[in-house]
Amino acid sequence: MPSRRDFLQQSAMFSLAAVLPSFISGQEPALRTNGERLRRWIEELSVFGRPAGGTFADGVSRTAFSDADVAGRKYVMGIMRESGLEPRIDVAGNIFASREGNDPMLKPILFGSHIDSVKGGGNFDGDLGSLAAIEAVRTLNEKKVATRHPLEVVVWAGEESNYGAGLSGSRAVSGELDPGELDRLQDGVIKRDAVRNDPDRYHEAQHQPGWFTAYLELHIEQGGKLEKAGLPVGVVEGIVSIDSYDVTIRGFANHAGTTPMPDRQDALLAAAKFIEAINEVVRSDPGAQVGTVGQMQVLPGAPNVIPGEVRHTIDLRDLSSAKLTRIGEGIRKRGAEIEQTSRCKIEITLTNHHESAKADPKVQAQIAAASDALGLRHQTMPSGAGHDAQSMAHMGPMGMIFVPSVGGISHSPKELTRWEDCTNGANVLLNTILRLDRA
Ligand SMILES: [Zn+2]
Repeated sequence: MPSRRDFLQQSAMFSLAAVLPSFISGQEPALRTNGERLRRWIEELSVFGRPAGGTFADGVSRTAFSDADVAGRKYVMGIMRESGLEPRIDVAGNIFASREGNDPMLKPILFGSHIDSVKGGGNFDGDLGSLAAIEAVRTLNEKKVATRHPLEVVVWAGEESNYGAGLSGSRAVSGELDPGELDRLQDGVIKRDAVRNDPDRYHEAQHQPGWFTAYLELHIEQGGKLEKAGLPVGVVEGIVSIDSYDVTIRGFANHAGTTPMPDRQDALLAAAKFIEAINEVVRSDPGAQVGTVGQMQVLPGAPNVIPGEVRHTIDLRDLSSAKLTRIGEGIRKRGAEIEQTSRCKIEITLTNHHESAKADPKVQAQIAAASDALGLRHQTMPSGAGHDAQSMAHMGPMGMIFVPSVGGISHSPKELTRWEDCTNGANVLLNTILRLDRA
């Protein structure tokens, strides 16, 4: 048993350690959210879309506009009300809830995420950022902390890819929906029939650029970099650019038994060499860029016929569009070389360029400062996955906070973020809001 004096000394040391980073930065001690409550909300939300007879570990299929999504949204609106927020739903299905600020002239600080999931998804992608946003306001209400700026919590509708595109709700707000998007078909249902809103009024969800002071989103990393580095927080620099290509390789389909090896024009053999070359080109440049061949068709596709034609995709991602262009050129050059040796024709077409969305440097600095004040180590990093934050980056200053994903696994029931990391993320979100409010 330690003596009473030891105990007092120890407690003094512990409390000093807890506030020391804030003293060093000259700020008030950091506020902390209620991690137990956040955990309970994540567990309670996991019931909506859970496989029959399953547990939390079996994940969710809470796809956008499904009955499970509607039930989950009702649950979330319930905890908003319980936390002193009054939810409103816009015509695109986004849920907003405001908390007044002291200065009515200031534009809101906007923060949130989504609660829809992929089929067979996990319990942290989107859910953490949405529920932590509510928890941040709940903490401010309980501790009677006022802000100068109004605060706006958002739960975006249809973030995950659905009807051929994701970010449905946030793109309605930023005015980036494609014409005809609501007429797309999925599993025999037209999107306009699925959205449970008046689809002809979708345009009314649009806001003007500059309608918020800053947008913040806490999200799980969905990759393994933070866990590998042993860091609790990632400060997102931006969401990567994506270049998508279609490749067609034409050889000559012929009899697999009667065509001698030197006489063949095997499109699949050329594709194999080309795919290896793509991998080499992507890896030849230092940096975080990634390149993937994820889809392939072999024609005519018979065991006894030499492949005459192969079609495949290329997906290239990096924060820098210029770098992607350079890599694309490198890939074309290697394609031309393989054409010579394989006697196959390689046609490479850029089908889509998705511009990157940069996080605002000042918002990044506030996320880093909030993490420091909480004694949480951090690194800057790009996001390889798309998020609603990219729609908001086109309208005003955006920032994203990442917390570690165990094993880098996501879009799977095995998706997991430790409760301690969830709480850390919510604390960074709350303290970044306060710093942006006072900046
Ligand atoms: Zn997400």
